[in-house]
Amino acid sequence: MPRPSVCIVGAGLAGACAALYLADTYDVHVIDAEEAASGASGAAAGLANPLMGRRANLTWRAAEAWGALTETIARARAKSTFNDSGVLRPTTEPKQVRFFKDAASEHPRWCDWWTADTLAERYPSVQAHDGALWLPRGGAVDVPAFVRAALVRARTAGATYTPRTRLLDWTPHDDGVAVHIESGRARTTQQYDYLLCCVGQGYPSLPALEPLDLHGIKGQTLTVRLNDAPSGLPPISGRGYIVPNQDTFVLGSSYEHEFADLQPSEAETQRILQKTSAMLPALERATVQDVAVGVRVKHDATNLPLVGPFQHPRTWVMLGLGSKGLLTAPLIARKLPQWMRASHRVPAAIRVPKALLPNSWTPTPS
Ligand SMILES: Cc1cc2nc3c(=O)[nH]c(=O)nc-3n(C[C@H](O)[C@H](O)[C@H](O)COP(=O)(O)OP(=O)(O)OC[C@H]3O[C@@H](n4cnc5c(N)ncnc54)[C@H](O)[C@@H]3O)c2cc1C
Repeated sequence: MPRPSVCIVGAGLAGACAALYLADTYDVHVIDAEEAASGASGAAAGLANPLMGRRANLTWRAAEAWGALTETIARARAKSTFNDSGVLRPTTEPKQVRFFKDAASEHPRWCDWWTADTLAERYPSVQAHDGALWLPRGGAVDVPAFVRAALVRARTAGATYTPRTRLLDWTPHDDGVAVHIESGRARTTQQYDYLLCCVGQGYPSLPALEPLDLHGIKGQTLTVRLNDAPSGLPPISGRGYIVPNQDTFVLGSSYEHEFADLQPSEAETQRILQKTSAMLPALERATVQDVAVGVRVKHDATNLPLVGPFQHPRTWVMLGLGSKGLLTAPLIARKLPQWMRASHRVPAAIRVPKALLPNSWTPTPS
């Protein structure tokens, strides 16, 4: 039996994880307008933090998401890109002491409350308002390296990958999808059984995606070098975040809801240095080596990713990973082969809005 074919558009976290799982049962062809991890995935600091925000709220399906991340790292043979040492969350304001203590009593499997003395004993170079939350299940991933490793593994399973090839548009029909692409100056149309659109921050260039109500938030991260850096630090997330990466640190991040271009901003660089130095004063001596800019894509209505068939049974999307690509892309990707066989299995929380589902779509059978 010939395997169904799928064109995965976008080789960021979403497209690479999808290719890794779909390549076993589909003829997968991945295209990217530029190179792998050239969108938001190239700017991500790589924090995998299951208790996010000021109140340390547990992320969507956290246990499953953490399991999916570790499984996907193993499947991509990308262990060297993953630091699963835990995540430290120093308090940054008086109110957070209560929020973090509550989180520790509500989610004892996920986190411990550390007093200021415990923090000073374990990580004397880290400053907090008063104590910290310690997350043993958390860590950081070198996202571009992980994306590249996932693509290599997908190719070993038979997938093909073509960079510098842009999706222009698509035309669904009864038997599949005609995918219109541009490579160099050549425009062609290729036929696939399915299209899976994982274009991340490239969504504004595709007017067909407009009805999905996506919203972009520009962000930048810094790579800094620090002589005599304190050793053995875990990833730290407070006001801003600090991710140790071999002999450098990645610092983040800015959040710009209105922006005219994707140029880095010196003012944001200074703000990031200021807020991260408040947690790790040694960073006052850091020198900036690189600045990366990306756009987090969010679905305005739900704050969760958008997955599944969009307007036609053969045209699928995996978009809106927001600030949590590492805790959503693997979680979704490992279910995709099952969901693409039976689209009603896509959880209602992440399905595209009802009005944009294919006409033939039927709700979950009883
Ligand atoms: C500053 C910053 C810091 C972040 N930090 C973290 C973090 O610490 N932890 C975390 O989990 N998440 C983080 N994120 C979020 C994370 O980066 C995203 O959720 C994730 O990378 C999105 O992946 P994606 O594959 O959906 O999109 P993208 O990474 O944007 O990938 C989309 C790909 O599609 C390609 N493309 C676009 N349009 C087309 C087209 N028309 N045709 C062909 N190809 C196309 C692009 O070239 C790109 O390679 C951060 C994001 C930013 C911006």
